[in-house]
Amino acid sequence: MSKLLKAYAQVAGHEVVSHLRQLAKPLVGMKVVHVNSTRVGGGVAEILEKLVPLMQELGIETSWEVIEGSDLFYQCTKNFHNGLQGKQIRIPNTQLQEYEKVNSKNAEKLRQQLEEAEFVFIHDPQPAPLLSHCKNRRGKWLWRCHIDVSRPYRPTWKYLRQFVSGYEASVFSLAEFAQNLPHPQYIIPPSIDPLSAKNIELPDKEVASVFNNFHLDPDRPLILQVSRFDRFKDPLGVIQAFKIVKKYVPDAQLVLAGGGATDDPEGEQVLQEVHGSSSDDPDIHVLLLPADAHRTINALQRAADIAVQKSVKEGFGLTVTEAMWKGKPVIGGNTGGIRLQVINFNTGFLVNTPEGAALRIRYLLHHTNKRKEIGIKAKEFVRENFLITRHLREYLTLLTSLHFGGSDRLELN
Ligand code: UDP
Repeated sequence: MSKLLKAYAQVAGHEVVSHLRQLAKPLVGMKVVHVNSTRVGGGVAEILEKLVPLMQELGIETSWEVIEGSDLFYQCTKNFHNGLQGKQIRIPNTQLQEYEKVNSKNAEKLRQQLEEAEFVFIHDPQPAPLLSHCKNRRGKWLWRCHIDVSRPYRPTWKYLRQFVSGYEASVFSLAEFAQNLPHPQYIIPPSIDPLSAKNIELPDKEVASVFNNFHLDPDRPLILQVSRFDRFKDPLGVIQAFKIVKKYVPDAQLVLAGGGATDDPEGEQVLQEVHGSSSDDPDIHVLLLPADAHRTINALQRAADIAVQKSVKEGFGLTVTEAMWKGKPVIGGNTGGIRLQVINFNTGFLVNTPEGAALRIRYLLHHTNKRKEIGIKAKEFVRENFLITRHLREYLTLLTSLHFGGSDRLELN
């Protein structure tokens, strides 16, 4: 067994890895291509980073391609993202034209590879029209949607649906995201990689170093939200919650750690708003981290007493899984994939408002034992449900069923 697979066997169990090898056998030698729109930043890149080498280790010829776009293209796809998550937004024709043009250009470069592959995973809306440029494709194409599309703004979905309808299947993270589409839809939640720099165990010294590096006090309670600066992540709501908490727990500290994804043009504006509402409080630390600051985020998550992910819309929320894997209680927005992970009162708390978040933060800060108890449950819940080995198992099952025939709809989780 390769070194990589052995390492996974140690964390997830030998039987889990031998099951993966067994499932991969019929697919050995087949070509799989994943396509998305950014190599770094955001959950999709985070997952592909490890999923691709793991699939390669199992003998499947897997590659990862990233499409290239212009500023106008990313403005358009950010609008898609917002529209799919429910925001009423009118997207100018110039943007839509650029979206189609960029895809047509990228297709020139990728066509041969995509047409030859047995399976193509197209992640999210950005590269969705590629299919229409690959007339001689021989493989099965899957549209893998990572976004919360439970209640999309209809005109946005109607426009995108025309590009997605021709796929052989779609994959969503939650059953409630499934759409009216003329092909089978599969429900597969995402996962984290326990061996990545983001999640691996760290020496105590390295965890403690974040206090010094970011001017935090190790003896005072630390609350953390790690997120891109995006309105759906509600950083302003977190600040509002923290300001309430401070009235009761004056020594609390808040870290909002984030950076940008290269395909997210709105981040700068949201960051300005965050600075605007936090500059009056020296205990709110806004950290702008580089895209590869994985160990730093890992250390921050381990150093925190409570992790918050107060999103108002969330496809899944890998930051929730990451914090739970580190034994932290998570206070999460009662939305999308967070609900799959945070079992209220069990593996964390679900909240709807800044006031609700403040209440739960105060409760957890005052009940150390409860924090530990919830953290232990949270970690085990992730081990059973949200590690990359489970995710890969479901992808392999799906590919097998598509290639060799299967029923119309499978719930694989
Ligand atoms: N992340 C990061 N740096 C940041 C902000 C986020 O590395 O500054 C990571 C975070 O740890 C997680 C992923 O990016 O692994 C975000 O995934 P999530 O599903 O939480 O949200 P998305 O950004 O995909 O909406």
